[in-house]
Amino acid sequence: MNGNMIIKNAAELVTCSGFNAKKGKEMAELHIIHDGAVVVKEGRIAAVGKTKEILTEIEKSRHDLTSFDAIDAANKAVLPGFVDSHTHFVFGGYRAEEFSWRLRGDTYMEIMQRGGGIINTVESTRRATEAELMKSGIKRLDSMLSIGVTTVEGKSGYGLDKDTEIKQLAVMVHLNNVHYVDVVRTFLGAHAVPQNYKGKEDAFIDYLIEEVMPDVAERNLAEFCDVFCEKNVFSVDQSRRLLSRAKKLGLKLKLHADEIVQIGGAELAAELGAVSADHLLQASDEGIRRMSESGVVATLLPGTAFSLKEPYARGRFIIDNNCAVALATDFNPGSCFSESIPLIFALATLYMDITIEEAVTALTLNGAAALDRADTIGSIDVGKMGDIIVLEYPSYKFIPYHLGVSTVEKVIKAGNLIYDKEKGGIIHC
Ligand SMILES: [Zn+2]
Repeated sequence: MNGNMIIKNAAELVTCSGFNAKKGKEMAELHIIHDGAVVVKEGRIAAVGKTKEILTEIEKSRHDLTSFDAIDAANKAVLPGFVDSHTHFVFGGYRAEEFSWRLRGDTYMEIMQRGGGIINTVESTRRATEAELMKSGIKRLDSMLSIGVTTVEGKSGYGLDKDTEIKQLAVMVHLNNVHYVDVVRTFLGAHAVPQNYKGKEDAFIDYLIEEVMPDVAERNLAEFCDVFCEKNVFSVDQSRRLLSRAKKLGLKLKLHADEIVQIGGAELAAELGAVSADHLLQASDEGIRRMSESGVVATLLPGTAFSLKEPYARGRFIIDNNCAVALATDFNPGSCFSESIPLIFALATLYMDITIEEAVTALTLNGAAALDRADTIGSIDVGKMGDIIVLEYPSYKFIPYHLGVSTVEKVIKAGNLIYDKEKGGIIHC
């Protein structure tokens, strides 16, 4: 595995070209090259163009191709790897019982107040050993990889105490080292109020600021800090206090904002210059306008709305108001136990009035932008990481059309073929 790869004859080379988040109308521009080819050298994209031109160039330069793997993508579409920019994939235990409660009509908040919800997973995650979290983490990353995800964000937030928060983040450091999929880490200590701090939310924020966050930052355990800014969880003032300190410590900011009740999370994201604000089911018009002005990526999570039977975020409205929209799975054991990218494509295009082209941008370049990585991943551009997927079909339009089923045939990570459906799945070296 040397990271040298040529993919040629692609029916559609969907480059998603760009080095910044795409806003509003730009989201529909995919910069497709028909009969396209891409060359990856030592992990980085070295050339992109028409197959004929690329092959002529190689011939002219008398480049030695013996060390390059080649993929003939005739009659197939080629895209950048998917970036799932919002997940909670490291956790202990499951909540199948609660899912059945929700089906009989109990609301998410009712279950949470009963000691279920996040707190239930907190108990199991505190009990889980690092080895157990690693084992389930690898299994989940394998599944994501097989449906074309090459970078994923993962959050802590199932510890709500120093040891467990750090355990979750340390497991993600380790997973990033051992697995092909790149794992971006977010500290979400303020995910819920732990039992021993009920009614003392301010004191819990103090605890996170004074006892936990300095260690997280100093040991480089997380790149982002996130907060569940929501009625009956953490107020706008508490969120502002936590995130302002995080920013001072060098962490970038994300928010779970305006998911259940409109309390001004979108506005706070704009005020603090957050990289993204996520969920936004109830975000105000003014909040969306300010996010657009401040360049905050709006990360929409339709799998969660679907699973909770809530109305979807206003995807069309948010794009039409010139925001950059990313889509992500929100994979977690409670409100959306699914890492399915095909499901997200289906929901976004069928129920949120997001076009297929916009959805592709939202899961590639704008997903990368939501992780502050639009300059290095998320598109097929020279200089970027060679993270590429090959579909079984000739067009990206098959992604939502083949409803709920992965159309990904091959996954190339940093120029190496690491998943091939035709060869039985993940290729272990
Ligand atoms: Zn979340």
